[in-house]
Amino acid sequence: MKREEIFSFSAFELARKIREKQIRAQEAVEAVFQNIDEHESNIHAYISLDREAAMNEARHCDELVQKGGELPPLLGVPMAVKDNLLLKGRKATCGSRMLENYIPPFTATCVQKLQDAGAILIGKTNMDEFGMGISTEHSFFGPTRNPLDPARVPGGSSGGSAASVSGNMAFAALGTDTGGSVRQPAAYCGLVGLRPTYGTVSRHGLVAFASSMDIAGPLTRGTRDAAGICNIVTGADPKDQTSISGPKIDISSLEQATVKGMRIGIPRELSGESESRDGFSLAVSEEVKASLEDAVRILEEEGAQVEFFDMPILSYAVEMYYILSSAEASSNLSRFDGIRYGYRDPDAKDLASLYTGTRSTGFGLEVKRRILMGNYVLSTEHFDDCYRRAESARKKLCRSFDEAFSRYDVLLSPTAPQVAPLLGESGKDALQNYISDLFTVPASLAGIPAVSVPFGKTSLPVGLQFTGPRFGEQAILTAARFLEIHQEERKEKEAKGGTENA
Ligand code: GLN
Repeated sequence: MKREEIFSFSAFELARKIREKQIRAQEAVEAVFQNIDEHESNIHAYISLDREAAMNEARHCDELVQKGGELPPLLGVPMAVKDNLLLKGRKATCGSRMLENYIPPFTATCVQKLQDAGAILIGKTNMDEFGMGISTEHSFFGPTRNPLDPARVPGGSSGGSAASVSGNMAFAALGTDTGGSVRQPAAYCGLVGLRPTYGTVSRHGLVAFASSMDIAGPLTRGTRDAAGICNIVTGADPKDQTSISGPKIDISSLEQATVKGMRIGIPRELSGESESRDGFSLAVSEEVKASLEDAVRILEEEGAQVEFFDMPILSYAVEMYYILSSAEASSNLSRFDGIRYGYRDPDAKDLASLYTGTRSTGFGLEVKRRILMGNYVLSTEHFDDCYRRAESARKKLCRSFDEAFSRYDVLLSPTAPQVAPLLGESGKDALQNYISDLFTVPASLAGIPAVSVPFGKTSLPVGLQFTGPRFGEQAILTAARFLEIHQEERKEKEAKGGTENA
């Protein structure tokens, strides 16, 4: 089968073709590695790859197919996972010098579930160090480029996972989302990125950044792949006491998704209308605004009730997020002390210089910034006016969401204020970067599900985000699927129009 044809399949379609013996798992893995040979040196989606193990697994998959019987749902599908998700015996660097040579002794529950479902894990993807960033430029191993335009960033922190899928170097990937790191790279790379309800994916084996928000989620080429992978990786896990089982997504009902009668709220604070505050401006680009307007029109035409509403607490979500996530990060990252894991300063003379030497060299600039910020907000002088206030604001935010979901089934907003920026463009001003997380951090703080779906007529993709109540994955994916169908039909029409005109 030709390479282009192989990559026209979604992850689950490919699995079906493999089960039906129309294509061998070995062919699929070879196709992926051909693309990797051609593009990876330029894109740098991966931190590590294991071609031999992947080929061996593929051979094993093909043998299982020959034997017949019941076969798992992702059998033979080449997938990638972010480098902060542990896979036993394979390096897990988290994009950090600190863990440059760290080989974990166990596998993360969500990664294990993918393997049990038959997926072939071909490599570990690049990321901003410990998940802190918006562009994958904060990786010790160098930046990843956006396959749709290599002069641009793929987003972050799961930029490697996004680039692997968007560049046809994997059929789907797992990323992790603390404050938007699955959704925003999905938006920049033209993919679907799903952040499931907090707790539904076990955090066992996910290297902690901010434990009250961390969760793994799929980056895929379509909503149905995202739903299917979500169903596979979710579920309560005895190894994570905060994990919980939610309802599984009914994928068949996504085939002909309709939004008729659906109540959709757009928070004005996330619509690009109110743009500047406290001396910082959040410029929402014209193309993002146009995509949102376009979506509103189409949703209304289909019979959804779309309404703008005020949710003033959202204006403080970025502050809440950076106070709380940095506090948790400073405490989580204290385990990297040169004694138990990873890098150790070879010149240390005593215990104090071992700590400072190890942490000064082992961590990059952004990670140090977060640790300092976290220590500041947790210090005795600032605990009450920073940490405690952010915690109580977070509760208010949750109540505001509850209230919003008593009136609306889902909320709609852009995923990011702009399309993928050029490499080197972000990172000049840390605060400006933090503010661009305004659209994604609210769902993270509230622990509720959100999905980014590509939508719009622009040459670079724009992501729109649907947010739902706790366990509202079905509703947000239904709305996202509706826009996806519309977008597919539009592209088909354009393609036809193109040939007619030619
Ligand atoms: N951009 C956010 C941050 O840097 C989100 C990170 C994430 O979700 N891992 O903290």
